[in-house]
Amino acid sequence: MRYIPEPYRIKMVEPIRMLTRPEREKRLEEARYNVFNIRSDDVYIDLLTDSGTGAMSDRQWAGMLMGDEAYAGARGYFKVQDAVKEIFGYAFAQPVHQGRAAEQVLFPSLIKPGQVVISNTHFDTTRAHVELAGGRPMDLVSPEATDTLHFAPFKGNMDVVALEQLLAEKGAESVGLIIMTITNNSAGGQPVSIENIRATRAIADRYGVTMILDAARFAENAWFIKQREPEFKDSSIRDIILETFRNADAFTMSAKKDAIVNMGGLIGVRDNPSLVEKVKKLTVPYEGFITYGGLAGRDLEALAIGLYEGIEENWLKFRVGQMEYLGARLQEAGIPFQSPVGGHAVFLDAKALLPHIPYNLFPAQALTLELYLEGGIRACDIGSFMLGNDPATGKQLESTFEFCRLAIPRRVYTQAHLDYIVDVLTDIKARAGTLGGYRITWEPPVLRHFTAHLEPVC
Ligand SMILES: *Cc1c(COP(=O)(O)O)cnc(C)c1O
Repeated sequence: MRYIPEPYRIKMVEPIRMLTRPEREKRLEEARYNVFNIRSDDVYIDLLTDSGTGAMSDRQWAGMLMGDEAYAGARGYFKVQDAVKEIFGYAFAQPVHQGRAAEQVLFPSLIKPGQVVISNTHFDTTRAHVELAGGRPMDLVSPEATDTLHFAPFKGNMDVVALEQLLAEKGAESVGLIIMTITNNSAGGQPVSIENIRATRAIADRYGVTMILDAARFAENAWFIKQREPEFKDSSIRDIILETFRNADAFTMSAKKDAIVNMGGLIGVRDNPSLVEKVKKLTVPYEGFITYGGLAGRDLEALAIGLYEGIEENWLKFRVGQMEYLGARLQEAGIPFQSPVGGHAVFLDAKALLPHIPYNLFPAQALTLELYLEGGIRACDIGSFMLGNDPATGKQLESTFEFCRLAIPRRVYTQAHLDYIVDVLTDIKARAGTLGGYRITWEPPVLRHFTAHLEPVC
């Protein structure tokens, strides 16, 4: 497979440093074998997340200098409004400081306490804000999503048969909201088709339920649609985005993903003045006055520019091309991963690579730690270590998947970095049978994977 060269050239660099093997061993021990406790300065290639870790362009930095820091009526606010009107076709945009703030501000206006909220898969902060608004989150992802070995073009889709059944059973009043996550982050960055979005919309209309998009990776989703959904093979990315958003009533967005800013978020409302008023009313106490919404004026400029840069076809072709290149090289090297690759990450299948390590000794965490030891690479566990214990029994839950996620920051790493990652994994594979598991020595009651302490099991 031919690598698509970076559609940019470098004019500012940030040095990175490789520690020696003994230093890495020491750092990992000091970090209690938890990669969230490692300093970024001690990491050579950081694949922990693609959120807020992208590189801004010269144009975005120029925009930062032009930022208007007025408390009310800042220029950047109007640029964001114009960009949202043009790109998404929505009448109103509320900037906020990040995606979860959009959820906090919007959900109380859409969810009544006790109502069920249905998503193809809730992102973890989305799930938390549904619960904080009194809702009961429920995931209905297409059954194809759980088959990691076989290709399906749209593994992020909503299970529309189950959705219809649920609405018919429970009745429309008990369902507050439908949230379509594009791409489906928790299902591995897998895309959702327009056909599925339209089918979900039709069901929402039939039962009179509001439908919104959780649109952090809307541009990657549009790129996949162009490649994989025959109806759109000749459509522009712009038209695919318009068609996607036409089917929803509103959206929440973390701009730290496809809008390529280090901090920012948006709420979009298509055409609903009373909802706009509710959003403005809650923005003021939570985020600040509506024309800055928790951001500096310069951040609004960078966001307005990033929205356009993130939807350029050449950029998206390269971006998804990087994941596909990494996938192709891993395949050649016989390293198992979830197929097809996602739009923002490749998920290594640690269960297949390390079958001798049982789930309760955390194979994906073992692979994550080995990547740091061997190559100074920081990834993260998306498996039993992240899943945690059953709240009722306190017993370790067994995850369906043991993934080690390699999330690729936008415009940060080059082909050589990707080749290096494959080389490191190839070395690890050659002695995979000698790797051991890890046990937890301390853990907090919730979201333990961020802070838990571990030790190697010899
Ligand atoms: C990142 C993300 C969020 C939350 O956004 P933050 O900017 O991290 O607060 C919500 N939904 C999805 C799908 C995301 O990827």
